Amino acid sequence: MRYAILADIHANLAAFTAVLEDVKGRGDVEEIWCLGDIVGYGPEPHQCIEVLRQHSGICVAGNHDWAAIGKIDTVDFNPDAAAAARWTAGQLGTEDRQYLEGLPLVIEKGDFMLVHGSPREPIWEYVLSNATACENFAFFKSQFCLVGHSHAPAVFREENGSCSLSEMLPGTDLRLGKARLIINPGGVGQPRDGDPRAAYAVYDGETTTMAFYRVPYDIAATQAKMLHAGLPVRLASRLSYGV
Ligand code: ZN
Repeated sequence: MRYAILADIHANLAAFTAVLEDVKGRGDVEEIWCLGDIVGYGPEPHQCIEVLRQHSGICVAGNHDWAAIGKIDTVDFNPDAAAAARWTAGQLGTEDRQYLEGLPLVIEKGDFMLVHGSPREPIWEYVLSNATACENFAFFKSQFCLVGHSHAPAVFREENGSCSLSEMLPGTDLRLGKARLIINPGGVGQPRDGDPRAAYAVYDGETTTMAFYRVPYDIAATQAKMLHAGLPVRLASRLSYGV
C-alpha cells in the first residue's frame, strides 16, 4: 500500500490540487496522511478542507487549524499570521469548524506516529535542529514519526544513541531501515526551504521507501487571491521565494 504524506496545505488550493494531480500520476495511492495546518495563511481554507474530506485518509490538527476555530489564542502568532487566522475564521462554515474541531493531535498508524509539530509538543514545537530532534525520540514509541510545521523536508535519524539530520532533496528515495526516524515531507502550501514548489512525500509500505517530491503550481494565482482577500502582502510575496 502507498500513502501520500502531506503537511501544511495552508489554504493554498492551487498547490494542494497540483500535488493531488501529481499523486494521481504516480499510480495507486491508498490514502492521504495529512500532518495538519490545512488552513491559515492562504486564500481558500473552506475549499481545501472540502477537497481533503473528499479523499480517504487521516489528519492531525495543526496550530493554524486550532487558531482558526479559536481553540488557541493567536497572541503567540506573528501579526501577519494572526491577521490571516482572523480572516480564516470568517471563511469557515459550521461543517468546516466541526471537522477541524474533530482532528486529533496524534495518530498512530502501524510503524508511524503522526503529529503536526513534534512528538513532545504536537501543536507548537518545531523540529528544526538535530538537538531538538534528539530529545524528541524519547516521546514516541513507534519506529517512525511524521511531522510538519517547519515546512522544510528533512529526516532526523537516531542510531546508536546519536542523531543526525539529512535534508531531503526532491527525487530522493529513502529506504527506511532499522533506525528510528523523524520525517518531515516539507510543506504543500507555503514551502520555507528556498524552493517555492509544493513539497510532499509518498510512503510505499511494500518497499518501505519514502520518496520526496516537489511540484510546481500556479503561485501567481494563489497570490492574486490572497491580495484580493486582503490578506497580508508579505504572506503572498513569500510564496514566490519559498521562504
Ligand atoms: Zn504550517
